[in-house]
Amino acid sequence: MTVKIDERKVFEIIEAKKPKVVLVNAPGGLLRQTKELMEHVKERYGVTAIMSGDSCFGICDTVDDDAGKLQADLALHIGHNASVEEVGDYTYLIDAVDDVEFGDVVETAAERLAPYRRIGLATFSQHLHQLGPVKERLEAKGFEVKVGRGNNLMLEGQVFGCDFSTPFPIRDEVDAFAFLGESEFHAVGLALAMGKPTFMLDPYMNEVTDMQAAADERRKRAILAVYKARDARVFGVITGLKEGQKMLGRSNWIAKRLEMSGRKVVRLAMRDVTAERLAPHREIEAFVQTACPRISVDGFTFDRPVLSIPQADALVALIEGREPGEFLERAKWIELTVGLIKR
Ligand code: SF4
Repeated sequence: MTVKIDERKVFEIIEAKKPKVVLVNAPGGLLRQTKELMEHVKERYGVTAIMSGDSCFGICDTVDDDAGKLQADLALHIGHNASVEEVGDYTYLIDAVDDVEFGDVVETAAERLAPYRRIGLATFSQHLHQLGPVKERLEAKGFEVKVGRGNNLMLEGQVFGCDFSTPFPIRDEVDAFAFLGESEFHAVGLALAMGKPTFMLDPYMNEVTDMQAAADERRKRAILAVYKARDARVFGVITGLKEGQKMLGRSNWIAKRLEMSGRKVVRLAMRDVTAERLAPHREIEAFVQTACPRISVDGFTFDRPVLSIPQADALVALIEGREPGEFLERAKWIELTVGLIKR
């Protein structure tokens, strides 16, 4: 059971492009494999490979701009694939595939899923190749199984932590969702965005987890933060500086709405939104950040409300006397700009 980077694709790109310098970035869980890849590239082609030491949590974390600054000839973004293979001026998205099998956990899941007849499947980049086999196994057990269609950014059945646009259109056609993989992060996001019973199938532990409790907890915290923010008079509106999070239009819109309601707004921009970065801004009573929504939905370390885009929409609705509704139940919590910068 290992995660393997698509080294062959990297070699093909290097043979075609003949770079002298390559910038590489990868999420924390793939650093060891990525460093091995860098060694192989250096040994085989004499190419200088530089690893970006900045945080890399998702497909929003491409380093196309940094490749230009470092005079690299191309950039490799490891572990987050999409329906596009190239983005920006330099960047190629490189797959990393987990070879773990789902046979045993599907057996376990079949019992837990028995009360539901129609099942929607979703997963993240590393297990996409398992959607077909798992679908067949569940169908053989009598379930009706659906997988959401791919779109201009996502592959069939794929979800990111902020983008659920492939399963969203099928949510009224299924009774429950099964998420493939041991990622509570993705599974709880799916549960929140779909508003449906959602089960995480962990092939490593052969465990099936109902995500209801975790989703309820985050939903309550998200709602509480919105109501707390309603009382704030001074807001910080933060625009994320990561390449895939260029949400300046949304920041402008939210800032304007807050100012129209008599709130004071301080505009900020930063790459990583953390409690440490926000601490010096003592006069600010609540923040809205248009970077990664999961910073807000999963962020339990902030001492003041820090709202994501869906929460900010709910806040604006409240301020303007409208019902916020189920604001997390939507296809996208942020409009990732990765697809927009493809070559
Ligand atoms: S913005 Fe989306 S893709 Fe980027 S880290 Fe957050 S959840 Fe992942």
